Amino acid sequence: MVASKCFCYVRTDPDVPKHKGISVVIIDLDLPGVDVRPLRHLGGRAEFAEVFFTDVVVPRANLVGALNDGWRITMGSLAHERGALWVEGVMGAQRGIDDLVRLAHERGVSTDRVVRRRVAELAAQVRALRALGYKGFASFAQGSSAPEHSFMKLATSELRQEIFELGLDIQGADRAVLDPTVAAEGARWQKSWMTSLASTIGGGTSEVQRNVIATRVLGLPRD
Ligand SMILES: Cc1cc2nc3c(=O)[nH]c(=O)nc-3n(C[C@H](O)[C@H](O)[C@H](O)COP(=O)(O)OP(=O)(O)OC[C@H]3O[C@@H](n4cnc5c(N)ncnc54)[C@H](O)[C@@H]3O)c2cc1C
Repeated sequence: MVASKCFCYVRTDPDVPKHKGISVVIIDLDLPGVDVRPLRHLGGRAEFAEVFFTDVVVPRANLVGALNDGWRITMGSLAHERGALWVEGVMGAQRGIDDLVRLAHERGVSTDRVVRRRVAELAAQVRALRALGYKGFASFAQGSSAPEHSFMKLATSELRQEIFELGLDIQGADRAVLDPTVAAEGARWQKSWMTSLASTIGGGTSEVQRNVIATRVLGLPRD
């Protein structure tokens, strides 16, 4: 709702199969017919908007690349987005592990065998994913592709959910209090967990990521 322009992937040829016939245009959001409606998400804030377009006319000069070449462009921009998300994902997961250790001490459960095992398992996964990410960068540096990076967005977003779920488990009954003025740590664990649900959707859902890995990385047939 704060943007003045947006990229849109629009169908420009309805007579060709679905991936063909899509073009990228830049749309000025103050054009007549554009209706921007903020969306309040699970965490309570409105950071996104749904945008409705009614008979909006976009000048040809706003076309990005060639007409009907939008699918190729979006594959490139999505790969770029997913390729970089893992760095933020691993760093966020590492911060989550550090906070879990602190929380376990504060709540007097740092000697609890179940808590220790769960924290250690998650910490090991964060280390392994960081190493896998670096391996991908090393492949890039040598001019090769890095198929392992396809896995990173999926893995880090799901791992962060598990980390914040464990934080809520350690909090016990306190997890049910959502009001930040009275909740433990200002409801930080509850908010982080709710936000982590969004990261398995944005930039391609976990299910779609699994499809991409199965067909494009592992070469499995489509069902
Ligand atoms: C934090 C966040 C940021 C976002 N940022 C942007 C942005 O900047 N730009 C933008 O354009 N969009 C953005 N989105 C939208 C996001 O890309 C879509 O929400 C997402 O791609 C899922 O599409 P959808 O909501 O239409 O769900 P649908 O595609 O309707 O999917 C619904 C359910 O069906 C499953 N599903 C769908 N297709 C398949 C399939 N082929 N195989 C298996 N399962 C399938 C999905 O996994 C999901 O569980 C953002 C979303 C979030 C949460």
